Parts: sequence; C-alpha cells; structure tokens
Amino acid sequence: MIIVLRQDASPRDVTDLESWLHDHGTVTTVIRGEERSVIAVIGAIHFSGKELESHPAVLEVIRISQPYKIASRESGFAPQVKIGNVLVGGPKFLVMAGPCAVESREILLETARRLSEMGVTVLRGGAFKPRTSPYSFQGLGEEGLKLLAEARDETGMLVVTEVMTADKVDLVARYADILQVGARNMQNFDLLKAVAEVDRPVILKRGMAATIDEWLMGAEYILGRNQKVILCERGIRTFETKTRNTLDLNAVPVLKELTHLPVIVDPSHGTGVRRYVLPMSLASMGAGADGLLIEVHPDPDRALSDGAQSLTFVELQRLLKALQSMAPVVGRELELSWRHPEITTASAPPKAQVVYQGEPGAFSETAALAFFGDVKPVGVPAFRNVFEKVASGESPYGVIPIENSLAGSINQNYDLLLEFDLSIVGEVKLRVSHNLLANRGVREKDIKKLYGHPQALAQCDRFLRLHPDWTVYQTYDTAGSVKMIKEQEAPDAAAIASLQAAKIYDVDMLAEAIEDNPQNYTRFVVIAQSPRVHGRCDKTSVVFTTPNKPGALFAVLQLIAKHEVNLVKLESRPIQGRPWEYMFYMDWEGSIESPNVSAVLGALPECTETLKVLGCYPSA
Ligand code: PEP
Ligand code: MN
Repeated sequence: MIIVLRQDASPRDVTDLESWLHDHGTVTTVIRGEERSVIAVIGAIHFSGKELESHPAVLEVIRISQPYKIASRESGFAPQVKIGNVLVGGPKFLVMAGPCAVESREILLETARRLSEMGVTVLRGGAFKPRTSPYSFQGLGEEGLKLLAEARDETGMLVVTEVMTADKVDLVARYADILQVGARNMQNFDLLKAVAEVDRPVILKRGMAATIDEWLMGAEYILGRNQKVILCERGIRTFETKTRNTLDLNAVPVLKELTHLPVIVDPSHGTGVRRYVLPMSLASMGAGADGLLIEVHPDPDRALSDGAQSLTFVELQRLLKALQSMAPVVGRELELSWRHPEITTASAPPKAQVVYQGEPGAFSETAALAFFGDVKPVGVPAFRNVFEKVASGESPYGVIPIENSLAGSINQNYDLLLEFDLSIVGEVKLRVSHNLLANRGVREKDIKKLYGHPQALAQCDRFLRLHPDWTVYQTYDTAGSVKMIKEQEAPDAAAIASLQAAKIYDVDMLAEAIEDNPQNYTRFVVIAQSPRVHGRCDKTSVVFTTPNKPGALFAVLQLIAKHEVNLVKLESRPIQGRPWEYMFYMDWEGSIESPNVSAVLGALPECTETLKVLGCYPSA
C-alpha cells in the first residue's frame, strides 16, 4: 500500500500516520520525492485503507496487488534515476561502456579518453571482479577504484563499478558515481540492504537463474531507502550453448509494464560473443530499453577478462552510429556528451530552460526533452514567441520544427531565423506519429469536426480523404487541439495529436498512426543567442541572397562543388518587399572550421549580396 501525502503534510502528521500503521503490524518507509511524498506500507495489511483516506494529511491511498510495492508501476512513481544531466527512463538513451575489469592505468585512461571523444558519458570497469575461477584475475581492488576516479577527473565521465560485498559499499561509493550489483549477487540480501543506505544510483543486474518477479523483489530491498535503481538484463542460463547466456529481451517490455524502474541491457554478457553485441544492442533499443552497458577494450584479445565479448573502439563507434540513426525511429535520442549544450543554472537562472511552441504534449516539447534530457520545457503560443524569449534572454534555448519528411519545410521558422539574430546550436530528429483523439465515449461515427495543426493535417491527408464529411479546422498546435476539445467537452469533435497528448489530456484514441507514411520525421533545431562551435560540429547552415542576374545561383553552386562541400538541403524563400526575388537557405556537411567549408564561406561574398551563417552544430 502506498499512502500519498498532501503537499502540506507536517512531520507531526507523518509520525501520527506511521505510528497508527506500526500499531497495525506493518513496516513503513517515508519516501520524499520532488513531486510528491509517500509512505510505503509493507507487511501483512489487515485493514482496507479507508480509515486513512479521511486523515487530513492523506491525498490518496493506493492499494498494490503486486508482491513488490515500491517497484510496481501501480505505485505511481516516475523514474527517479538521474545520471549527470540525464533522467534515465526518459527520452534519452544512455550508453555506458568500458572494460570488463580495470586492468591498468594505461588501459583504463586510454579507454576513457577514446570513449569520451565518442561522446560516451558513463565509464564502466570492475575493480572487484566476481570470477568463476579463483585462479583468474580478481581485479585491482581499491587501486582500481582510484584509477576510475582518475579517469573521471580527467574526462568528466561518470563511473560505474561493481560492489561485491556489504562491507565494501562505503569504500566503493567513495570513488564511484554509480554502484553495480552483479548477477551473482542479485539475491545477496545483506548487500542489497547495504547499497540501499548510500546516496548513489544502483544498477541491479538480473541473476542468471532469476525470474522477473524475483528480480523485482531484489530491487524492492533497495527501494525502501534508495529509489535510484536501474535494472540491467544481462542474459539468463538456458539449455542453449551457442551463446554465453540467453539475452532475455522479453524482459524489457515485460518490465516496462510492471515497473517504473529504468531498464538497461548488457548485450556483452548476454551473448558472450563480440559480433553479436551490435545486433542485440539494436534489438534492445527496439524492445524499449533505456540504455546499454557495453564492454570495450583497446585490445580485446589480450583482455584479462571477458575479451571475447568486448568490442574494439572501432566497433563501438560503429555501434553508436547505428544507435544514433535508429533512435528517432523509436522516439528516443542517443545521449552523447557533445550533442547537446549543458543546461546550467547560472547565478541568475533564466525564467525557462527551454521554450517551445505549443501546449504540453506537443511534438516540440518531446523534441526539447529528447535533446536536453531532464528539463521542464515551457510552451509559448507562437513560433515568434520562441524567438523572442531566446533573443531577450528569458530563456537560453528554444526548440523549433524546421522541416518534415512528408510535408516539407516550416517556412515561418525559416523566415524567423533570418529576422532574429540567433544561432542554431543543435538539431534533433523525431519520428512523428499522429492519432485520432476524442473525448471519452465519442465514437468515430459521431465526429463532425476535426481540429489539427496544418502540418498534422497535411501529414494525414490520405486518412482525411476517407472522411470528406468532416469539417476540418486548423489550429495552432497539435496538443492544443486536444486541450480544446477536452475543455469544450465536445461530443462531436476529434483532434489529431500524439500519444503523449492523449495521455496528458486523458482522452480516447479512435485511430492510431494515421499519418500517410510511417517514415514521418520532423527535424527540429535548437536556437540560442550565441554560436557554440566545437570539434564535433559537422553541419553548417547559411542563408544568402544573390544578385538578380543570370547564373547567380549557379555561381554559388559551382563554388560549393569546387570545394567538394556536400549540400544536404536547399530551400528558397521569397524576399519580403521584393516580389519574385528569393533568398536561399542551405545546409552543408562539415564544420565552418573545416578547410572546405571555410573556403566556400571565404569566396561566397563575391557571388552573393547578403550572407549569414545561421549556425554550425553536431548533426542528428
Ligand atoms: C560485469 O559487468 O562485468 C559482470 C561481472 O556482470 P554480471 O554480474 O552480469 O556477470
Ligand atoms: Mn565482464
């Protein structure tokens, strides 16, 4: 049973409630979260909870049917594990990588440097190693922990390492940012109780012969005191001998249904074979995992442990690229340190960290969350307002859609990019899937009116042609359309919006994925006051006008061809006040600091009238 407390519940109220619960033979834990505080009640419960509902400090009593209480989805908890700037279990997909064991200073630091360059934010490495044979390398112990801390200090990565015994928890927590409880210890209850007492996220690996229920009960030992638990599927023992373990990816969607805890996958131990790690990593992302734990070694064939399943740096880079291109398909964003600017709460915190156009549940909000991780994006009514808020410094960043793979460019935003003196500092691609939503009880045949953003309507053209009798109204925002039909309690109206919007406004979904083509992606750009050019920027956006004479655009294209710059987008827009004259937006592959792009930029003024660099940023 979970007792959700009112915001204004006093410490006295909590003590009162707890002593009543203790008198009734239960054990309690108070869990104070950012959004809400609860009392988790454990033990044999011989009361209905009705008597508690009338207590002035109690908001709600949730009865939980599962044997695991705090881990259960019914408890109403949201994922609580934040690693760096990333809320694990949110839209970000987190890759943790490193050697099986910390072997030496040279190997660990080389690995950390290479991974950090690739954008990996969490370094793994065992200092205490559980080895099947007592004659195998057992790890460097505290010396290994010191090396991990050194790698963290040098690269800024966070470090995760295994703790094997309860008496070492404090020691390991002194050096590590994240503690790992290994498969062999999933039911070492003393260890579970000990990691519950430290303020560190815990990765709880699945025991080799553990059922999902047993695993969740293991998590429950930690959750009473420490809610920062991440589950890691790492393969189980089956009769199969072709792989070291059988990676049970069924567990991922099953866990997503049963628990709010984030779930990551370790395909290295799951397969035991290097060449199977990439396919099973992609399968993990497809199954809905929140991240991966991957073994990597500079020279796997000489590794002191688990070399056969460790990737080389080249293989890890290949894997990261594959994950990055798959992420938008499953609505996620791969967490890579250099992809996104940090949100800092500087001395004078801005009013909003990120602004977007629309209501909660809008695709732009999802894009902002995907790009920045754990932020609270603020919605504003119009695209222009996004630009205004960033230009005035009220918000450091804005996220705006710029083009859709089915419906084309969002022209207004191209024009605003020219009007405001802001820079593009990043981009994010999102798969967009539209649904037909209506108030509860409304059936498709009741519908007479349909509300949708013009872009959404354009993307669902084929579906709309099946309903010629509906009157279609254009609105300013997909999620805003849902909000409106909900507020009006409209019995004959529907809206086109995301699943997220359906959840937020608690409406029914009458038809799912009604977009013309599932290959429906929107590219968003992140805007800020100043450019942010760094070594990883590989895309440059410019806008220019040409003189009104024959061959003007050809001269520009010739220049781009001559310097072998790859043009990835060309868009023309009318120039305001000069009918039938156009300006051109271009995206190029390459950084403004690269010789080719800078040569083009150096020569362009000769064949253009005006030229503005909109930004140079890491491509999505
Ligand atoms: C490890 O991550 O190196 C490890 C020992 O994993 P597991 O506990 O899953 O075997
Ligand atoms: Mn290992």
